[in-house]
Amino acid sequence: MGFDNECIVNIQSLAGEYFCPVCRLLVYPSEALQSQCTHLYCKPCLTYVVSTTQACPYDGYLVTEADSKLLVESNKSLAETIGKVIVHCLFHRSGCTWQGPLSECTAHCSGCAFGNSPVVCNRCGIQIIHRQVQEHAQNCPERQLPVIRPRLPLRQEQLPFRSRLKLQLRLHLEKIQAN
Ligand SMILES: [Zn+2]
Ligand SMILES: [Zn+2]
Ligand SMILES: [Zn+2]
Ligand SMILES: [Zn+2]
Repeated sequence: MGFDNECIVNIQSLAGEYFCPVCRLLVYPSEALQSQCTHLYCKPCLTYVVSTTQACPYDGYLVTEADSKLLVESNKSLAETIGKVIVHCLFHRSGCTWQGPLSECTAHCSGCAFGNSPVVCNRCGIQIIHRQVQEHAQNCPERQLPVIRPRLPLRQEQLPFRSRLKLQLRLHLEKIQAN
């Protein structure tokens, strides 16, 4: 995962190339990988592309793990430039006023007391603390409602009268067709 876009101080001033083509978040320069087409990926996002389309979403070039290098090795000065991007604390919505370069944000946030502020998940309504938000987003019981969760079929006696009739009719027709 990249850096929360809402915590970047002046996002309009940044080059599009600083953002991962998959999650569209600012890459962490110390972890980012640079593909052969020179685009920057978070590690899990590169793994995702390699295991699916193998094509860079920006330009369609072939993306492989063997041809991708850590940004700090392939282009150290670009890594340093991205590290200097000025960001808010990840918990600034809980009231922290810290601002500083991206390269210092992780260290700040791990000790920031605002990370322990209570927040409520806007999907499931459970109260968590701010620093658990990313982890919770992956475990939230409401995260994938429309696709994954199977709907349990209602038992016949729970159905309203009309649907019960329809169901009996359908079962009856299926029985006739089967014979
Ligand atoms: Zn990404
Ligand atoms: Zn590319
Ligand atoms: Zn903070
Ligand atoms: Zn939730």
